[in-house]
Formats: sequence, structure tokens, C-alpha cells
Amino acid sequence: MSAVEPLQQTDLFTEAIKRLDRAQEYAKVHPEAIERLKHPKSVLSVAVPVRMDDGSLRLFDGYRVRHDDTRGPTKGGIRYHPQVDMSEVKALALWMTCKCAVVGIPFGGGKGGISVNPKELSHMELERLSRGFIRQIADFIGPDTDIPAPDVYTNSRIMGWMMDEYSRIKRQKTPAVITGKPISLGGSQGRDDATGRGGYYCLKELERIRGWNPKEISIAVQGFGNAGQHFARLCHNDGYKIVAVSDSRGGIYREEGFDVPSLCYSKNVNRELKAVYCKDSVCDTVEATSITNEQLLELDVNVLAPAALENTITDVNAGRIKAPVLVELANGPVTPEADRSLEEKGSLVIPDILANAGGVTVSYFEWVQNRSGYYWTEEEVHTRLREIMSREFNAIYERMTSAKIDMRTAAYAHALDRIGEAVEAHGTSAFFGTSGRS
Ligand code: NAD
Repeated sequence: MSAVEPLQQTDLFTEAIKRLDRAQEYAKVHPEAIERLKHPKSVLSVAVPVRMDDGSLRLFDGYRVRHDDTRGPTKGGIRYHPQVDMSEVKALALWMTCKCAVVGIPFGGGKGGISVNPKELSHMELERLSRGFIRQIADFIGPDTDIPAPDVYTNSRIMGWMMDEYSRIKRQKTPAVITGKPISLGGSQGRDDATGRGGYYCLKELERIRGWNPKEISIAVQGFGNAGQHFARLCHNDGYKIVAVSDSRGGIYREEGFDVPSLCYSKNVNRELKAVYCKDSVCDTVEATSITNEQLLELDVNVLAPAALENTITDVNAGRIKAPVLVELANGPVTPEADRSLEEKGSLVIPDILANAGGVTVSYFEWVQNRSGYYWTEEEVHTRLREIMSREFNAIYERMTSAKIDMRTAAYAHALDRIGEAVEAHGTSAFFGTSGRS
């Protein structure tokens, strides 16, 4: 089992709310609504006892945050990672509030996590931990209040266990309590690749605007998990050159580009990120250079897609980032200080609350299908996702151009307009006790 690399940890939530202050002046939102968003609606901290395979007892710290439910039930993933703490979960929940507003789906923002390195747990220990966590938060979540989903180091199998545990507690099948489930338990077609696909649809819009020929565009992807792999695969199918990828152990670079399905095969089946070309299950090694994650970020490529964790591009390395376009598949990979440095260079950052919103959008589709009991085809999911991602990308791009602001500020302003409108629609007395926006 490999250890997960340590991250530079600042107070993420404090950093995250800086974006609201910046966007406020470009949005139709009352300052009191911004003040409200600086304080999560409710937070829950739990200790999850787990009987380990060797008979010993271990306790794991878990968190669930409902940041804001003005626009609908709160929605957001559950992360398993050693560095999960309350501040990180609060920041991730705030980003979810903004993300759901960016794509116009009727949810607020929530998030959860457990401080654990899942690579050190057996399959059975992982299941006991996941079910134990749900037992602790069962009164906090629900299909009309707070709906979890997968995030880093959690997947559809874990979502299936969690839904099953919740249904046992409530003594009724409740598929809509959680999204990202296996298809056999009420999952949606197209949820698995939705995050990477949403980022890919954003890139396709940029390709159209800039008149790109995909064959001339090189891409580096940092983090080769769910979001990174699917993004790389879809871009590769269109002829884009995926020249570098990495995981927590390091990366590989090849100027001519990789055969992405082969890399995915090696990573998912053999659990190894390796420069290979595979025909069925027979893989040959191809020439490539081993690089570190830091080197990957600083490569001279056309597009950089950070798809791992937050605080990856900071004031320390922002000056060395050469890619003119960044697609933030991860949440919060660029710090506010690094934003400024990238902006000065004229880099275009397609921000996380737009670029990775495909995941929550298809999670919304899954919730709708669970509640109606009628299931869509994969083509229907793709068509509806593309429509939303393209519409919101273009609205934000247009706002960025006309207001002469960066794309992140435009995306936040776009979200704050929608949140502000919902705050007003609620009636102000319950919310603030004073009048609405000026
Ligand atoms: P995942 O667990 O499937 O993959 C994470 C990948 O990142 C793995 O390949 C891991 O090895 C790699 N990694 C971990 N630490 C790293 C490090 N220090 N340097 C480089 N690589 C590292 O997770 P995921 O679901 O793909 O999530 C990745 C990012 O996308 C997260 O920021 C997550 O919040 C965001 N995101 C995911 C979804 C989703 O639906 N899965 C939706 C929206 C946003």
C-alpha cells in the first residue's frame, strides 16, 4: 500500500470564501446573502467505531456539512482521505452550493468525508466503515434534505453500501438518498464518466471558440482517477494528445502522446500507472519519461487539467505554470494567490465550479430518475448533460468577456445571481429580517 502524498494545508474554508467577496461586485446579490454564505447552515462531526479484521477497534473521524439549502436540498460527495478535516469539508460544501447554482440544478451545497487512508483497509473493513458512517449521519441526510455522492477514494460500490444501510435504518428502499450508485441499485447511466465528460464538453466549447485542431493540442492530466481518466479518454478519442498523466505516486510523459485506453487498463486492472500500449489484455511498454507531479504541472503544454486535490497550484509554483489553459477537474486546485499570478500571465482557467459540475449534474439526473422510477438511456443522459454544460459555459464565457473579468469570477457571479434570486424568492424576513437586494 502506498502512502498518499502530504498536501500543503491552509484553512481552506477561509480561502474559499475570498472568492465570494471578489465576485460580489459583479453579481446581483445582497451583501447579507454573502454574509450568510460565509457560515455553513449546519455541521456534524462524528466518530465511527470500526471492528478491524484482526479483532481490534479503531475510531475514525467523520464529517458532514450542509452549507446552504436556499436553492434546494444540499448535495455533495463523501471523501475518504487522511487529510479530510472540518475546514476542508466546509470549503468543499461551499463550492457545491456555487456549483449547483452555476449549472442551475435545484440543489444547495453539502459535503462529507472521513479521515482515513482507504488503501490501508481491507474490503470488509471499508464496508463496515461506510455503513458505520451512515448509521452516524442517517438523521442528517435524506432525499429531501441532504444527498451524498462519491468523491476522492469513494466509488459506486461504496455508494451502494451506504444506500443499503440507510434503507435498512429507514425500513424502506430509498435510492434517492445517495447518487453515484451501481446501475443495479438505481444508479444512472452515464454517472461514472460524468465529471470528466462535463470538463470535456467545456473544452469542446473552447475548441469551437478558438478554432482549435485537437491534433495540435497537447494536454497534461494531474490525477488519473475517475475525473482525470474519463476526461483524458474523451479528449483522446477526439484526437487531442494526452502527453502526461500522474497519480499519487508520480507521473509519466511522452511527447507523441499516450494511448489513453491502455493507460486506463493498466491503472484500473493492474493498479499501476505505466506507459504501455495494450491490445486486449496484452500490454507492451512504450517509451516515456518518469516525472514528478510538480514537473507535470510545469510542462509546456496547451492544456493542463489538475484532477487530484486542492491547493495544487499555489503562489509557490504558479509563476512556473506554462499551460495557457487550465481545466479544473479537481475542486480547489488553484489558490486565490495563484489565481492572481495566472491572471497576470493571461492564462484561461475554466474554474472547478463549472469544469467539474458534470458530476453533480448527472447526480441530479439520477435523483430525478429515482424519484420518478423511470430510467433514461445513456444517450439521453449525454444529450441533457451536454446541453447544460454548453449553455452555462457560454453564458459564463460571455460574462467574462463583457465584464473583462477572469472566468472564475464570472462563474461565481453567475452562481451568486441565482442564489440571490432564490434568497429573495424565499421572502426576506425568515432569512435576514430586512429587505432584499438593492
Ligand atoms: P479518485 O479517487 O477517483 O482519483 C483521485 C486520483 O488522484 C487518483 O489517481 C490518485 O492517485 C490521485 N492523487 C491523489 N493524490 C495525489 C497527489 N498528491 N498528486 C497527484 N495525484 C494524486 O477521485 P476523483 O473522483 O477523480 O476526484 C478527483 C478530483 O475531482 C477531486 O478534487 C474531487 O473533489 C473532484 N471531483 C470529483 C467528482 C466525481 O464525481 N468523482 C465530481 C466533482 C469533482
